[in-house]
Amino acid sequence: MTAVEERPAIRPDVPPGQLFIGGRRQEAADRFDAVDPATGRVLTTLARGSAADVDAAVGAARAAFEGWAATSGRERARILHRVADLVRGHADDLVAVESADVGKPVSLCRTVDVETVAEQYEYYSALAQGVDGATRQIPIASHAYTRREPLGVVAAVTPFNFPLVLSSSKIAPALAAGNTVVHKPAEDASLSALLMAEILTEAGVPGGVVNVVTGFGTEIGDALVTHPGVDKVAFTGSTAVGRHVARVAGERLKPVTLELGGNAAHLVFDDADVEQAVHAAIKAFVFNTGQFCMGGPRLLVADALHDTILDALAEAVPQVPVGDPFDPATVVGPMAGERHRAKVEQYLEQARADGGRIVAGGGRPTFDGDLAGGFFVQPTVIADLPSGSRVIGEEIFGPVLTVQRFTTEDEAVALANSTPYGLAAGLQTTNLARAHRVAARLQAGIVWVNDWAMLDPAIPFGGVKDSGFGREYGPESLDAYTKTKSVVVSLA
Ligand code: NAD
Repeated sequence: MTAVEERPAIRPDVPPGQLFIGGRRQEAADRFDAVDPATGRVLTTLARGSAADVDAAVGAARAAFEGWAATSGRERARILHRVADLVRGHADDLVAVESADVGKPVSLCRTVDVETVAEQYEYYSALAQGVDGATRQIPIASHAYTRREPLGVVAAVTPFNFPLVLSSSKIAPALAAGNTVVHKPAEDASLSALLMAEILTEAGVPGGVVNVVTGFGTEIGDALVTHPGVDKVAFTGSTAVGRHVARVAGERLKPVTLELGGNAAHLVFDDADVEQAVHAAIKAFVFNTGQFCMGGPRLLVADALHDTILDALAEAVPQVPVGDPFDPATVVGPMAGERHRAKVEQYLEQARADGGRIVAGGGRPTFDGDLAGGFFVQPTVIADLPSGSRVIGEEIFGPVLTVQRFTTEDEAVALANSTPYGLAAGLQTTNLARAHRVAARLQAGIVWVNDWAMLDPAIPFGGVKDSGFGREYGPESLDAYTKTKSVVVSLA
């Protein structure tokens, strides 16, 4: 592994972050450090929001609601389209900030994260013009119709792994439907939210329509999701925190959508194209350094191909470029934080204790210079684990792949469905009938055949079982940000 001697010029000089409330930056009483995961050094400081700050942000969102909801769909569409253009115009800044904050490789950040954000705003710009109801025929003399109305103030709570994408997947449809938003980004991934708030303002989103309160979920999360001024909670994060959010929001009868953890199975049948399967298997577990709720950390391989696939992984995985997120050749950067690496390393220890055979990786890469303090872990492949191992059953959320074998299609499906999660799944086969048959039997919100992570704002995704409920992306997402009102006018 070679050290990157010079950090490319794109590395930003990040200013201290403030809260963004009512269209203005505001100070909080306290601050906390944002750490660069590639070096372990402090990048900048952020406002540590309090319950009072949450209250001010919800107040600003409430005050802005009536005006924003009254704008025409066409006007909102124009503004959202400008956001998309500005995101592309500010791509360098967004990439620099996001990569510095969470260690995301710049090549991934530019082509996936930033471009996806632009596409989301374009997509919901188009849909903003069609948020309307229907007329209904009923057997009494009347004019009966439905209206789709915005819900009000949306609390958008997002995790650390795709800060820009997952905040936009809430904010774009929420705005398209006429809602206002209070966004609480993850404590270890807040910088891009502040930059996006400026971009939204530049695009013409009025003050108060989108507010950002940075800080710790344990300190301000409850204050936000239980706030009487909040009409809907859109949460993406871990299953444990999601359960808590559902409970406290449920007590107040607030509608909640929950995009939670995942532990997807990737099935390789004996008729698969081996090269394609290996390529997809690697992509599925190293994408975003394995910090991908829809990653594929469980590879299930038919007996006939098991050893071939394992040999291919043992050869290919050590060649995946691991290093400085600011090096355009890097595919795997650091974990987004020290606690995330510590969690992955606990699972690696557990794998060894359970008798797992490490086929590739298994430790930390070594770097000199700046990167020596970074939170890196090698992409790791583990075979021969017993099927009851925690390493297979739980969400690791790092660049770790376990490989299991199966004999029959029924066994493959049963193994795939054997964890509490149900976010994504995938299969490799050249048999068309099997592709559709197995896709229908997999318990997941999205199933990919013969590739991985094919995502688009037009395609809904979300979970079943412990992966949550509700759908983001697609026209389905607008349903989560609107309510239907029926109006029946007597013609008698
Ligand atoms: P997390 O649950 O620790 O935190 C998510 C957010 O919740 C953060 O903003 C955090 O500050 C906030 N939070 C914490 N306590 C809270 C409380 N009491 N009330 C309200 N908010 C609170 O998750 P994380 O570690 O940031 O992200 C990783 C997890 O997110 C993984 O489990 C991953 O699978 C999941 N995830 C799911 C999806 C999806 O679409 N289903 C997408 C990305 C990540």
